[in-house]
Amino acid sequence: MSETIRIHPAIDHGLTPASGSFAGGTLVCRCTERPVKVRVSTQVAHDHACGCTKCWKPEGAIFSLVAVVPQDKLEVVENADKLAVFDSSATIKRYACSGCGVHMYGRIENEKHPFYGLDFVHPELFQEDGWAPPEFAAFVSSVIESGVSPDRMGGVRARLKELGLEPYDCLSPPLMDAIAAHTAKAAGVTAH
Ligand SMILES: [Zn+2]
Ligand SMILES: [Zn+2]
Repeated sequence: MSETIRIHPAIDHGLTPASGSFAGGTLVCRCTERPVKVRVSTQVAHDHACGCTKCWKPEGAIFSLVAVVPQDKLEVVENADKLAVFDSSATIKRYACSGCGVHMYGRIENEKHPFYGLDFVHPELFQEDGWAPPEFAAFVSSVIESGVSPDRMGGVRARLKELGLEPYDCLSPPLMDAIAAHTAKAAGVTAH
């Protein structure tokens, strides 16, 4: 029998489809007192399981769940004083709750970055249901950097595929293409 592989508690039982009526909600940290609340006024996009070592993930998960929303659709509405940037040297400034450690949102300050204008959020923090489920798995090989044994990777990729999440070792092809297109445009390359 193959071992049970826990990808992330919000999807280990299978993906929950998005609700057509979901137009945003409130992300809440895990503090029992004075939780940080972040209002998002749209459905999330490009939700995916991420294996990188920077994204916040809950206990027992080997992947994070991360999606993007336009920066102007995100607003910290309660207890903003508890937020602090987790790693100020990182490209994405991840605002974490100083009480419980949960990352509430990530923001890119470099206007030249392909994803400038988008904020990164962990949709499982929504207090409401209906957010779009992950579409693929990114930076899969990177879970080895956070301690997953290389000989478990076959099982990890098989489980991701079973969940319907195509495993990629970078981002998905459409997102890699978008980044390359941005770079080409910035360099003045004419597409042919
Ligand atoms: Zn907190
Ligand atoms: Zn990540």
